[in-house]
Amino acid sequence: MSAQSLPDSRSRLPDRQGRFGPFGGQFVPETLMAALAELEGVYRKAHRDRSFRRELDAYLQDYAGRPTPLYYARRLSERLGCRIRIYLKREDLLHTGAHKINNTLGQGLLCRKMGKPRVIAETGAGQHGVATATVAALLGLKCDVYMGQTDMVRQRLNVFRMRMLGGRVIPVTSGSKTLKDACNEAIRDWVTNVRDTHYILGSVVGPHPYPMMVRDFQSVIGQEARVQIRQATGRLPDCVIACVGGGSNAMGTFHPFYRDRSVRFVGVEAAGAGLATGRHAATLVRGTVGVLHGSKSFLLQDRNGQVIETHSISAGLDYPGVGPEHAFYKKSGRAEYVAVTDQEALQGFRLLAETEGILPALEPAHAIAYLPKLCKRLKAGSIVILCLSGRGDKDVETVAEQLQ
Ligand SMILES: *Cc1c(COP(=O)(O)O)cnc(C)c1O
Repeated sequence: MSAQSLPDSRSRLPDRQGRFGPFGGQFVPETLMAALAELEGVYRKAHRDRSFRRELDAYLQDYAGRPTPLYYARRLSERLGCRIRIYLKREDLLHTGAHKINNTLGQGLLCRKMGKPRVIAETGAGQHGVATATVAALLGLKCDVYMGQTDMVRQRLNVFRMRMLGGRVIPVTSGSKTLKDACNEAIRDWVTNVRDTHYILGSVVGPHPYPMMVRDFQSVIGQEARVQIRQATGRLPDCVIACVGGGSNAMGTFHPFYRDRSVRFVGVEAAGAGLATGRHAATLVRGTVGVLHGSKSFLLQDRNGQVIETHSISAGLDYPGVGPEHAFYKKSGRAEYVAVTDQEALQGFRLLAETEGILPALEPAHAIAYLPKLCKRLKAGSIVILCLSGRGDKDVETVAEQLQ
């Protein structure tokens, strides 16, 4: 699996303006245009540079723990009772416990290549902040993480983790004091300090080149899985399923299968308290087209274009936007997007715990919760790959409270 971590685009997208059909682009202040152009230039050069690939691959292997196993979940498959074989792509086994390290390692190395001594990041639950602070410590970079004050209270443990790793956590007190406000503050910081600072965005969102670049860094998930499923079963899967917050673990799993038309893509969003209640984060299922954080995509907004407060039991899915390439996949019909509620996700969490002895993060528990429905729609003998994006240790307290 050497020198494979940066793939060529399977979809030939985005175009030169960073657009995926009508979505994507660069809706940013003039002062950031030069920084985005610089970043794109450095990234494209690194993409072609064998020594950069080798260095990234070495960190992915020896530091993060790649390749991750593709595990046949026999008891889970049997419990579903419809003769479908479920394979789990075990991103939960990576260092720091989730797929986010694939991206932060890539961007950290790019930052060093640009000669910038400082990184900043936004974080909601703190997972991306921890992955960023980890890589900053590893590479000797200064690290400031913006986090909403509400989230800092909810996710105290991750605040401590970031501090122990040498990161500074900056509380954000504007707006709803959550992830979208942290994004705004990180962008503001970047505008001011762009000469010595790289902004490590945590998902396939934001202005071009971020959606493309983060997709490429995360595509190592799908590339490995494509090889592994063939070794295990002699063929490609019938369906690939993943949860969608901003969309990076899903896109990283989907993209290497883009041209395999027989492989269906299913993205699972958070229906929160229920779609009808309005308290959810189902951006692709229920959102409309608009601009948020520098790119055009679906988002949850009211009639006046004001971004709506989202809700999900899983902090990693609790975001009102989604990556523009997913918007394109939805419009073109390449992928299908569905949503499951908090209660269903809790059932998904227990289902995997009881059948396989794996506590999943609440984010991929949404994808697990959709399996019983998915099974009914697939032929007997079908093969499914599910991206298990992270481990559930961080969520045990939340689950315990809910199940009382
Ligand atoms: C952050 C996170 C997500 C959501 O982010 P995506 O960009 O949609 O992948 C999903 N799963 C886990 C475990 C996360 O930490």
